Amino acid sequence: MIKLTTENTTKAIERCRKLKPTVRFVADRVFAVQSANNTNSYTVRFDVQKGERFGLCECKAAEKGLACYHIVGAATVNIYRQGLKRQTV
Ligand SMILES: [Zn+2]
Repeated sequence: MIKLTTENTTKAIERCRKLKPTVRFVADRVFAVQSANNTNSYTVRFDVQKGERFGLCECKAAEKGLACYHIVGAATVNIYRQGLKRQTV
């Protein structure tokens, strides 16, 4: 799992804005993100531990411990979903 911070997600947010990957909701905190470069689809998972956010992706960048744009793209959708949940409570 990669710890998500403002520092390590800044570049990924820029890439995500340019590439606009398609994000599909799979299950709670699990998303499928379509690659912008090829036909691959990557599964992204999220976890929260002690108030810190973590993300996991299947792509090469994430394997090296980088916060990739798939994680950021899915995080945007995840935050949106959490917001919706809060509104319905
Ligand atoms: Zn990725």
